Amino acid sequence: MKLDIAEVQRDTGSSLSFDGELLIKDFQWQGETVGFPGPLQVEGRITNVGDMLILNASVKGTAILTCRLCMGDFEYDLDFSFEAKLKDTPVQDDPDYFAYQGFQIDLTDIVTEFLILEIPSVRQCREDCKGLCPICGVNLNEQSCKCTDAEDSDLMIDERLEALKEYYTGQSKEV
Ligand SMILES: [Zn+2]
Ligand SMILES: [Zn+2]
Repeated sequence: MKLDIAEVQRDTGSSLSFDGELLIKDFQWQGETVGFPGPLQVEGRITNVGDMLILNASVKGTAILTCRLCMGDFEYDLDFSFEAKLKDTPVQDDPDYFAYQGFQIDLTDIVTEFLILEIPSVRQCREDCKGLCPICGVNLNEQSCKCTDAEDSDLMIDERLEALKEYYTGQSKEV
């Protein structure tokens, strides 16, 4: 999505509203693929404040992330706003500014940078994701496996220990 800023660049105080669809290609982030099943909805305004342009935008859409527990893909709703400062000359060592050239601004890179901030550090398909079996590797959301029987017997041992504990504490009270 490219914006023609020739006019807004001319006068301090002038602004330009926009809205439309922004296609973002899947990209790699922290070793995982961030995917997009469809375009993002972007709307906002660019304002000329004299020494730079201010871009305010809100973004809605869906990203496909990878669950850290079951390694499955899941949809993640995106709904965020941001403000970016734009200058026609690169500002060294200041990540707050985005440089543009000529009379066009391509929103793709700018939106992608702010989108990355929206990706949760704990990526989980759902709160109660059961993950993969650490022994045989099946997705426990979809099927169970024999290894879970071993877990159940662990549980029984715990229950027995609990009963023993109660037995001993009961005894010490009697003494
Ligand atoms: Zn999961
Ligand atoms: Zn298993």
